[in-house]
Amino acid sequence: MERESLEMDVVFVGAGPANLSGAFHLARLVRRHNEETASGAKEGKPLGDVEIAVIEKGAAVGAHILSGAVMDPKGLRELIPDFVERGAPLESPVKEDYFLYLTDKHALRSPITPPPLKNHGYYIVSLNRLTAWLGEQCEEAGVNIFPEFPGADVLYDENDCVVGVRTGDKGIDKEGKHKANFEPGVDLLARITVLGEGPRGSLTKQLTERLGLDADRAPQVYSIGVKELWELPDDRYPAGRVTHTLGFPSDSRTYGGGWIYGMQNRILNIGYVTGLDYEDPLLDPHAEFQRYKTHPYIAGLLEGGKMIRYGAKTIAAGGYFAMPRMYGDGFLLVGDCAGFLNSQRLKGIHSAIKSGMLAAEAIFEALLVGDFSAKQLQRYEELVNESWIIPELRKVRNFHAAFNNGRWLGLLNAGLQFVTGGRAWGFLDRAKAEPGHEAMKKLSAFGYNGGNLEQRYNGLKFDGKLTFNKLTDVYHAAVGHDEDQPVHLHVLDTNICATRCAEEYANPCQRFCPAAVYEMVDGGDGGRRLQINFSNCVHCKTCDIMDPYQIINWVTPEGGGGPDYKGM
Ligand code: SF4
Repeated sequence: MERESLEMDVVFVGAGPANLSGAFHLARLVRRHNEETASGAKEGKPLGDVEIAVIEKGAAVGAHILSGAVMDPKGLRELIPDFVERGAPLESPVKEDYFLYLTDKHALRSPITPPPLKNHGYYIVSLNRLTAWLGEQCEEAGVNIFPEFPGADVLYDENDCVVGVRTGDKGIDKEGKHKANFEPGVDLLARITVLGEGPRGSLTKQLTERLGLDADRAPQVYSIGVKELWELPDDRYPAGRVTHTLGFPSDSRTYGGGWIYGMQNRILNIGYVTGLDYEDPLLDPHAEFQRYKTHPYIAGLLEGGKMIRYGAKTIAAGGYFAMPRMYGDGFLLVGDCAGFLNSQRLKGIHSAIKSGMLAAEAIFEALLVGDFSAKQLQRYEELVNESWIIPELRKVRNFHAAFNNGRWLGLLNAGLQFVTGGRAWGFLDRAKAEPGHEAMKKLSAFGYNGGNLEQRYNGLKFDGKLTFNKLTDVYHAAVGHDEDQPVHLHVLDTNICATRCAEEYANPCQRFCPAAVYEMVDGGDGGRRLQINFSNCVHCKTCDIMDPYQIINWVTPEGGGGPDYKGM
């Protein structure tokens, strides 16, 4: 097949905050350098035109971007000091912080907000809108942005140096045949490729496996956040109020917590995080969130309101010990691909932006000397180590791991870290040793018979007013995929589904997927078979992470498909 090749200098894969910040900062560094060297204000030669591209699998910049989000503005302030004057879309400065412990019936307000959850000076944002705005800044700075271009494969030379990415083919039918609108993907050749795909990026996964980027590091662990936006009938929850909750509905062995943020125009942003290292095979993160809303305090807040948007996304929570090598010959990893999130503060936007900026600075130095090898690009890791990112992550390095022992010991550990500078029990200074999916226990360990959700959720009903089933929620994620294309969820051995997996775990993919993609149906031969409703997929990557046999491989579908997280 004939493929077009396009030569760029730098290609950023994924239009998230890290990559857009990197592309913007790089364009600015190059422009300043060219102006200063041309005017004689600085020694050296101009770099000339440096072609910078950002490719994005979504239909528009921000379409696939989902977060809470309360943003620490530190990163954005360094990138664009006058971001407020330049019209960055900010919902509200944080005006009040609440921290609640939820028992089954009551909400107990802590007299003090734990310091990591104090948000004074921060902003509630829609990360979708903020990202779209960053995209506009990039375009004004001369960056080429290509929406609907998924990165399908990493391109290597004969020495395993990364030399670009191949974008996904368009116009292939579900049987794999070319349709009338067939267009082969393009080989985007670049001197440096920057992966900023978010948590569990599909190209980052390929690259990590091929080059062993996670050797000697702890396994990355993840959580999933499930979220809705609600329109409230009155001002009962003002813009700028931030509430975090602990307790109901999580059991004390499961990592989880909720958030409630007040946005403009009486919009309530509510969500629930579940650690993807849970033990109970019948746990369903979407059902956990629905149950969360049935708590009397939360149900009261939502009464008379209307759910208007839905989304789900994973979060890389492994922190300092789980960070992979973030550079190599011809490539860098930024943002959640490199695991920069501070899971104790529930903040990652500031460090994603900063990592993009540091990548831009390392790339700029590489362009000046014309060297794109790992030896030169190691400079990025040096810059990260010298920045505020690493001290911040080191201080909370044991946060997630300590919750292996349950909620109460985890909280005790979180408190201890303040006085020990990040050390946990004084002797426990380590990361979680196993990947999260290994924590899932078999049905028999819980005394379950079959996969009946009732056994865990005790009569949770989806009433269509306060609680919603997955299909209703998916409708509110505005998900769209052309149905006539190959399935982008590759289950490598479907023989397991109706036999071993059904017996051992009752097919947990039906539960951990927050979009009802996986369904065990009548196989027509007296048995059951797996049906994959791929067009529902909200690209959260939970299945790639949490499958107990690790046989689900998420790959990019045709460009432009997926959720549309407008305003989320
Ligand atoms: Fe998330 Fe996988 Fe379900 Fe898609 S199929 S929504 S990536 S769990």
